[in-house]
Amino acid sequence: MNVSWVDTHCHLSLDERDPKELIAEADDVVGIVIPGVDLRSSVAAVELAARYPDRLGAAVGVHPHDSVGWEMIRNEISDLTETAVAVGETGLDYYRDHAPRDTQRASFAWHIELATERDLPLIVHCRDAFADVYRMISESGSGELTVLHCWTGGTRWTRRFLELGVMFSYAGPITFTTGETIRLGAELVPPDRALVETDTPYLAPEPHRGEPNRPAWVRHTGAELARVWGLSVEEVAATTTENARRVFGVPG
Ligand SMILES: [Zn+2]
Repeated sequence: MNVSWVDTHCHLSLDERDPKELIAEADDVVGIVIPGVDLRSSVAAVELAARYPDRLGAAVGVHPHDSVGWEMIRNEISDLTETAVAVGETGLDYYRDHAPRDTQRASFAWHIELATERDLPLIVHCRDAFADVYRMISESGSGELTVLHCWTGGTRWTRRFLELGVMFSYAGPITFTTGETIRLGAELVPPDRALVETDTPYLAPEPHRGEPNRPAWVRHTGAELARVWGLSVEEVAATTTENARRVFGVPG
């Protein structure tokens, strides 16, 4: 039996643990996308990905939490896209509100433009900001290249975003006992529109909830999607891995 996964959102460039070990132990993970959240982690993501070109890809961008001052590093981020597989992570977070909302929106709008210009996928963080993320993506018309990372939408928002042609990336919360809303939304998503991720080091799936996450645990999220869809784990692994290859070119 040959099951392999792609972890499409794994913050190895923010992690204090040795990435080499985390990558090595994840022996059924054939690809990993490493998103940046600021200039430093974006540079680190590009450098790390260059060491494992067949298996890793870097995304470069400014997280909504870190978006104050994004204009000052836009040229550097833009240059880094030359060696990146995606732009991000970017998006809107109205739950924590670490940055003023108009700053988050300006930064997000610029990332959307950059991804469109470079013809790269866009990795979007969306927390308590469904309406504004929906509006900005639909206005840009860039749906097909948009990945909603750690998607937590229920049936209503999932249905609306489906119409935009976006990809839905599922993380640990779909495995939580509190994840019923997410599971109901996921029932509506055709497997060829779904991806899996860990969001390492955050949001470890069950049965590891609360521990520092690792790419090897992406299989728990995949197994939950298999239960939701009534498919085999092998089918979900094969489909989501093929989707990751199509969207990110990872594994290369
Ligand atoms: Zn993230």
